[in-house]
Amino acid sequence: MEFDAVVVGGSFAGLSAALQLARARRQVAVIDSGLRRNRFAQVSHGFLAQDGRPPSEIHAEAKRQLLRYPAVRWLEGAAHAVRRSGKSFEVVTDQGAQRSRRIVLATGVADQLPDVPGLRERWGKSVFHCPYCHGYELRNGHIGVLAVGPVSIHQAMLLPDWGAVTLFLNDALTLDADQEQALAARGVRIERARVVRVAGRAAIQLEGQREVELDGIFTASLTQPASPLAEQLGCEFDHGPLGPFVKTGAQQETTVPGVFACGDLARAAGNIAVAVGDGAVAGSAAHRSLIFEP
Ligand SMILES: Cc1cc2nc3c(=O)[nH]c(=O)nc-3n(C[C@H](O)[C@H](O)[C@H](O)COP(=O)(O)OP(=O)(O)OC[C@H]3O[C@@H](n4cnc5c(N)ncnc54)[C@H](O)[C@@H]3O)c2cc1C
Repeated sequence: MEFDAVVVGGSFAGLSAALQLARARRQVAVIDSGLRRNRFAQVSHGFLAQDGRPPSEIHAEAKRQLLRYPAVRWLEGAAHAVRRSGKSFEVVTDQGAQRSRRIVLATGVADQLPDVPGLRERWGKSVFHCPYCHGYELRNGHIGVLAVGPVSIHQAMLLPDWGAVTLFLNDALTLDADQEQALAARGVRIERARVVRVAGRAAIQLEGQREVELDGIFTASLTQPASPLAEQLGCEFDHGPLGPFVKTGAQQETTVPGVFACGDLARAAGNIAVAVGDGAVAGSAAHRSLIFEP
């Protein structure tokens, strides 16, 4: 059979896109390998009506509601390749090739964390990237910013609204006089010693056997698309301070006709609320394109 749309990625953006297509009574397949970006966090914040709920629960409920629509087929596993085939597309999956008239890419991004021992294990628990998601719970405590490059200045300037901030340069960043002054004006302390590891809940151990106890650590994770499908299709990319993302227009259409992209894959920085919003736009736009751009 040929689907009207295949949505690759069945997390917040993909589920939202698929819901619009299913409600338009179109045949839609969702292909999902189950690696949500926030799978490391126990609790999610900032998504209206779901604040403080485990992200796994929000996702499970959204998936359950989507699968009530008989026109939806859920394909567990990865989409390995996608190519144009005449006026349609062919997607290679673990369950064989799937044909579809439209593609919605919602595959998210992969986080690249600084190579500091102890950091990765604490990702989503006491090490974060987004203050809007996890800053409030630090209760105005002592916050560390682990530098990865110039983007960390932005993070350190922002975070004093959530607590007392120390910026750990860790040889990843050199500050000029203006930057030092701007950070000082926000009350940010600068620590120049090299970071050896993260220990305890959120303690940064420094060269010279010093340790700084913190309530939480923020670091700007650099991101890459989690799958090569957009590149395979020839989609154009934009470049933000954290990494590349798929270029889209106001209707989440990519530069390749018939291909839409939404969520973290198609934003300089994202969260659940905007992934759901973008997904709704992508799904309904993909539906309209079936009628008006056959
Ligand atoms: C530690 C952490 C905590 C966070 N906390 C919050 C928070 O509190 N509040 C908030 O709003 N946001 C939070 N975020 C951000 C949030 O996780 C993302 O903005 C959101 O998950 C983006 O949704 P998405 O659907 O675009 O991508 P994702 O949720 O990353 O989902 C992408 C999906 O695509 C699948 N996929 C990828 N490639 C393929 C392929 N080739 N074939 C099939 N499937 C594929 C993946 O397995 C995954 O299921 C957090 C992020 C992190 C890292």
